[in-house]
Amino acid sequence: MSQKLPTTLQEAIKYFADSQRCLDFVIALRWPHGPICPRCQSQEYNFLKTRSLWECKSCKKQYSVKVGTIFEDSAIKLDKWTCAMWMIVNAKNGVSSYEIARSLGVTQKTAWFMMHRIRLALQKGSINRKLMGEVEVDETYIGGNARNMHGDKRLNVLRTEGRFRKAIVIGMLERKGEVRTAAINAASSKLLKEQINAHVVPGSTLYSDQWHGYMKVGKEYAHKIINHAEEYVRGNVHTNSIENFWSLLKRGIKGTYVSVEPFHLFRYLDEQSFRFNTRKSNDQGRFMEAMASIAGKRVEYKDLIGQTTH
Ligand SMILES: [Zn+2]
Repeated sequence: MSQKLPTTLQEAIKYFADSQRCLDFVIALRWPHGPICPRCQSQEYNFLKTRSLWECKSCKKQYSVKVGTIFEDSAIKLDKWTCAMWMIVNAKNGVSSYEIARSLGVTQKTAWFMMHRIRLALQKGSINRKLMGEVEVDETYIGGNARNMHGDKRLNVLRTEGRFRKAIVIGMLERKGEVRTAAINAASSKLLKEQINAHVVPGSTLYSDQWHGYMKVGKEYAHKIINHAEEYVRGNVHTNSIENFWSLLKRGIKGTYVSVEPFHLFRYLDEQSFRFNTRKSNDQGRFMEAMASIAGKRVEYKDLIGQTTH
């Protein structure tokens, strides 16, 4: 792969405008060791150059580089996909489908579809390992009046299940590390415990507030509680890091969306979590990391760009 990969959106647009170069780029990402039939995994093929299709010698089916990726079943050209990917992963406060539509010259509906597909890749890229060490856990409430409520009022009022029909999000954040989020139906002991067990390595130290839903997280964690009715920080016992993530998340939602349907919330969470988890990288790094997940399995970043470091 060319070592002179783009570093800015402007360069990316130029780089991918060359359709052959764009195709070569996606092929190299998708199949670092050469084309593989998505149906029977055979590596024997004939290449139909004029149509950029491969014909499998084993099962005789034809396939394009899009088959088995988030780009499948769409007539959208790869240069638009790559530029949309660049915009989404690098927009700190999120980007709207209207903005993508304007920039790429597609309809808003198409842009919306692309964003949802791209978030699938971001989601797959984020489930690679469990959190460990010092992990802050907290929930937040998205939509309706929750946006305007703070602190204890929020704690007391909104935790009443179902009262406001708000989307509840649980977040787990490894200090100085990554975040994991999930939309849940209620901040109940059962659901909170499920998420914590799914995302945090046993033996880790959990930091939470005094919500009773966290009191039964299990003996497999050390659990330190900060009582927000009394104080917000006691030595290293606090939930400031996850609170900061919530601010970022809400700023993004507020700046980009008129409203977030609860049904789609998890996709937005994946997008914001991806950006947070790659915050120490640069635009090119984030883009390459996201592109590595287009086929649902991660390719190591170093394998994509050889020995180049960023
Ligand atoms: Zn085949």
